Amino acid sequence: MAVTILLRALDGATLARVAEISGQNVYKCMQCGTCSSVCPMSDSMTITPRQAMLLLQHGHVEPVADSETPWLCASCTTCEVRCPRGIEVPRVMEAIRQLKLRENVDKVNPRAIPVEDLSAMPQIALGAGFRKLTS
Ligand code: SF4
Ligand code: SF4
Repeated sequence: MAVTILLRALDGATLARVAEISGQNVYKCMQCGTCSSVCPMSDSMTITPRQAMLLLQHGHVEPVADSETPWLCASCTTCEVRCPRGIEVPRVMEAIRQLKLRENVDKVNPRAIPVEDLSAMPQIALGAGFRKLTS
């Protein structure tokens, strides 16, 4: 991944959109790693929250958007309350999801979910999931 990232052009315009939507300044991040250590989803992420912040600081929005990280973020706010710089990381994750969903890119296809799974899943969880993961 590192080589791919180095070859990408800095995407300042997209980063500005992330800042505008989230209201957060990723440059306040001091890379302490607290967010990654407290995140309940971090073990399942290929890019941890701290790494995501570092990539964003360097203008690399797409590698974060194309990873599972913003989609796995449960918006639990555990990182937010522990961040020593007061950065609302879940808002950053939400902004990245919004940018992808505004491209009409669905993260999940509801029609591809087996009927037996749909009937077994809690309807509230399904609705919340579709709001988060479909455009
Ligand atoms: S806890 Fe805050 S300052 Fe520390 S790495 Fe995460 S976002 Fe950056
Ligand atoms: S809000 Fe997202 S990134 Fe932060 S601790 Fe929760 S799951 Fe992890």
